[in-house]
Amino acid sequence: MSAKDIGNGYWKEKWNYAPKFIGPVSEETKNDFLIARVMNVHQVSSFIWTTFEKHIIAAAIKAGNNLLKVNGFKPMRIFDNQIIILDDEVYEKNVKMSENEGGNCSFGYIFLRKNKDRCHFVIDIAHEISHLFSFYSVSVKENKECRSIDFYQLGFHSLSEKGNSPCFGLNEAATDLWSKVVLREMERVGAFDNLFSKEEKGRIFYEFAYALHVHLIEEVFLNKSEKFIWPFFKSYFDGSNDFLELVKQEMPEVLRIIKNVDNTQESVVKAAYEIGGDKLRDKILQENVKK
Ligand SMILES: [Zn+2]
Repeated sequence: MSAKDIGNGYWKEKWNYAPKFIGPVSEETKNDFLIARVMNVHQVSSFIWTTFEKHIIAAAIKAGNNLLKVNGFKPMRIFDNQIIILDDEVYEKNVKMSENEGGNCSFGYIFLRKNKDRCHFVIDIAHEISHLFSFYSVSVKENKECRSIDFYQLGFHSLSEKGNSPCFGLNEAATDLWSKVVLREMERVGAFDNLFSKEEKGRIFYEFAYALHVHLIEEVFLNKSEKFIWPFFKSYFDGSNDFLELVKQEMPEVLRIIKNVDNTQESVVKAAYEIGGDKLRDKILQENVKK
């Protein structure tokens, strides 16, 4: 991506953002990237939202901000034009990165499939909005002719200079888990009143996009000791190393394994086996059948 493609705008309210400069860059470039840049990299525009979609999106953003405040973080404004709803055909052609994804979040925008299943839409929007609230970083390189900017970090997921992609799976687990906190908050303030049956709410609260990832993180850290919970969510939002440092201290043998889990189920199964042998692997797989 070259400098001429940049220019969709700044996101002043994005407090949990930091640029990563690769190599020497000018003062001008440093200044230009002090504030988060957002870019509609797929260059697609949204369907007009239905009344239902509008209601759910506004409620999810409000709930997300309430939760930031409650946890001692600054709330942030998310603008309507950062959320792009597309039909399947346009999504498949322009946006899709992996099989079965309901949406994705890149460079400060959410791209979401228009979903006829309302529960699915609610699950997907809460997941993608959680990504949007999480820590955000772009890398910036500069030479005489141009600047180039690229994805660097979203939540836990970063792109290392060696070209690999650490913490991809960890980030999806954090996003799924946080999205459920957001959905509970939406329920608490009555956002789902008269919209969903008890059964549908069950789906909304317990259906995960990355169920195996969630089970693994819960089993290895969050259910094992409460001391992991706050650093886990804190690092997701502020981009700090608190959680990974704690893992390094408490379970050094697990750090590399967790960082290497990608977005596939196979990588979770492999990690579970490496951490806890047959026993943990079978437990994670069983959890998945139960829910
Ligand atoms: Zn995701």
